[in-house]
Parts: sequence; structure tokens; C-alpha cells
Amino acid sequence: MTPWLQRLRTWLAEAGAENRSVLDEAIAGNLRRLRWMVPVVIALNLVHVGIFWWGFPPGSPAHNLWKHAIGWTHLVMSGWMAVLGVLAFAQSRQSQRGLLARALHLFAPLSALLFAATIATIDQLVTPNISPFLLGCMFASLLFQLRPTEVLALYAAGYGFFFFAIGATQPDAALLLSNRVNGLTATLLGIFLSTVLWRKNVRYVLLQRELSQRNQELTRQQEELLWLAKRDALTGLFNRGEFLRLAEVELLRSLRHGTDMSAIMVDLDHFKKINDRYGHPAGDAVLKHTAACLLGAVRVTDVVARLGGEEFVVLLPQTRLDAAVQLAEKLLRTLQQSPAPITSGLSISFTASLGVGSLPAGHNSTVAALYAAADHALYEAKRKGRNRVEKTESDGTLTPSDFQRMRRQ
Ligand code: GH3
Ligand code: MG
Ligand code: MG
Repeated sequence: MTPWLQRLRTWLAEAGAENRSVLDEAIAGNLRRLRWMVPVVIALNLVHVGIFWWGFPPGSPAHNLWKHAIGWTHLVMSGWMAVLGVLAFAQSRQSQRGLLARALHLFAPLSALLFAATIATIDQLVTPNISPFLLGCMFASLLFQLRPTEVLALYAAGYGFFFFAIGATQPDAALLLSNRVNGLTATLLGIFLSTVLWRKNVRYVLLQRELSQRNQELTRQQEELLWLAKRDALTGLFNRGEFLRLAEVELLRSLRHGTDMSAIMVDLDHFKKINDRYGHPAGDAVLKHTAACLLGAVRVTDVVARLGGEEFVVLLPQTRLDAAVQLAEKLLRTLQQSPAPITSGLSISFTASLGVGSLPAGHNSTVAALYAAADHALYEAKRKGRNRVEKTESDGTLTPSDFQRMRRQ
């Protein structure tokens, strides 16, 4: 096969695939337009019936035949449009791919072409004019979106009908030839206009689709960025910044309602050794496992965050010191008793030290004071040998050693 023939085949295949891909939208648009067009076309047809039947005084037999034939054709067209309209409204509750939708999408423009050809044919009784056929071709091409193959088939049918029908009413051979040629020009114009509009529509629909896909992708990326801004990428827990923000909110709530508020700081023991012995990826797996254990053991209203490294914090709104210590003991046991699964043959046992800090009801304190209290308790737990829980009830003030520890972090 010659290269240009090959290129033509490829282009035709691609254009065909594009045309098929937007067909549903085209059918939906055609049926939408058909639904609002029907009452307008029926009204116009009935006006024509009135004008042609009662608007002129009787004349010659040919003149009278023409008037009645035009009137009847418009009346029949009104009835046919009513049928198409009812079917189009019935179809609006069905699928665009259904047989009825496809039939209406083809029959509506075909009806316009055949109707226009019929009027032009009847007009030949009194005038050589074929402008109704020209108008019919323009009307069909402007109002209906049709695939090029459909356009060719419909306009061929319309012109074929026009070609033979006009032979029955136009006796003058020269006028007949002239009208058939002009009819062909109108048909070709209709085909050209339909095809240009169809291609424009295909590009528009494909562009719209791409735009909406990009928009969806952007929204997804925005949501991801928002998530990452608040979360720790390794464990999925809240990060330090989001923890502090949420803690401020909870603090205000506890000040307003006069409730206690506690926090548990969790620091894995000798975590550096785990990294050194099993490698960083195994260390990461231990951190993820710890996060899952903490999340699994607290209430949904509690806030669990990773402060950094192997340090975690659990914020407990409306929780007194003794209840927070109980939860901390439970967390200690959970972590002790659930080694982190690394590979099918390896799981790593580890422990943690936990410091519980609490602000009593009626306090007038800050997140920094709560944080310092929990951190102080954690420091004590480490100092007393690790793998244990210690507690501090804050009086709401920060001591110089609190500031020193906070500066170290
Ligand atoms: P201690 O019992 O006193 O808390 O000792 P430790 O070894 O747990 O504490 P240290 O502060 O000496 O070491 C913390 C280690 O955590 C050092 C650092 O390499 C490691 N680390 C910090 N962030 C990550 C991480 O994201 N992944 C891994 N695998 N290791 C981390
Ligand atoms: Mg540690
Ligand atoms: Mg640490």
C-alpha cells in the first residue's frame, strides 16, 4: 500500500474513532433541540395551513391544487412533528444509546429534508422556485449534529427524493434540469456545513473532556497537598504543626468547658540500635507499626501525632491525669506485646517510654505548659530506666528546665 493511502486510512480510522466517541453527546444535544423545536415547528406549520387554505381567494385549478397540497403537507408535518415530539419526551427517560434515541436522531433531520423537498415539488405547480429545499438543507445542517457518514446517507436520501419528485411537477425540461442542479448545490452546501460543524463539535467535546479530566487531576493533587501539609508522610499520623494547631483548639474548648486535658508523649527505647542492627527500612516499619498500635488503642476524638524521629504524642481532650495514666499503661503493654512484623520470618520486639502530662480543670494555661509537663514525665521515664510510664500534673507554669528541654528538641 502506498504511504499516502496508508496515511489516509490511519486518518480515517482516527477520525472515525473520535466521531464514535462523541456520538452520545451529539444524540443527546439533537434530542434536546428536537424537544424545544417541536412546539415551534408545529405552530409555524399550522400558521401555514391557515394562510394557504383561507388566506387566498380561489383561483385557477392548478393554483387551487397547489394551495390545498401545501396546506395538507403542512398539516401532515404538524402531526408527524407531534409524534416525534412525544417520542422525544418519552425517550428523555431512556438511555442515549437506545434504539429510539438513535432512530429519532436520524429521523428528525430526514423528515426536515423530505418535507422541504415535498414543498419545493408542490411549488413547481406555480413557480420554478426551490428555495424551500435550500432552506430545508440549511435547517437540517444547522440544527442537527450528524456524523459525516450519517450526513452523506441522509442528504443522498433527501436529494434522491427531491430529484425524482420534482420530475413529476415540473414539466419544463430546462427548468427541471436547472432545479435539479440547484438542488444538488443546496445538498452539497448542506453536507459541507454539517461536516464543518460536526468537526468543530468533536473538537469542542474532546477539549471539554480533557479540561474536566485535568480539573479532576488538579483537585486530586490539591487534596493530596493539603493532606501532606497536615500529615507525616511515613506514618500518615498528624505532623507536629497540625498537632499544635489541634491542641490549641482543644485547649480553648477545655478552657471554655472547664475540663481537664492530658497528653501522652511516647518515645521508643534505644531506637537507634534497631536502625543500626536491622537497617533504616526496618526502623521505618517499626515506626509505622507503632503509629498503627497507638491509633488502634485510642478513641476517635483523641489526636495522635508524630512529633518527629521516634517520638509520638497522644492528645486526650476532657481526660483527667489518672485516666491518661491508665491509657498510657495500656499503650506501654500494647507496644511491649506486639512486635513489629518486618518480613515473613522477622518481627522486631521493642519498648517505649511514656510521659503523661495533664492540665487540671479550671486551669488557665497553654499548650506549651501541657507539652512541657508530658515531656518532663517522659524525661523521668527515660531516667528511671525506660519501658515505663511517668506522670506530671502541670500547675500551668513553665520552669527554666522546661525551657531548656524544649530548646533541645
Ligand atoms: P532513647 O531510648 O534514649 O530514646 O534512645 P534512642 O536510640 O531511641 O534515641 P536517639 O535520639 O538516640 O535516636 C533516635 C533515632 O531515630 C536516631 C535516628 O536515626 C532515628 N530516626 C529518626 N527519624 C527516623 C525515621 O524516620 N526512620 C528511621 N528508620 N529512623 C529514624
Ligand atoms: Mg528514643
Ligand atoms: Mg527521641
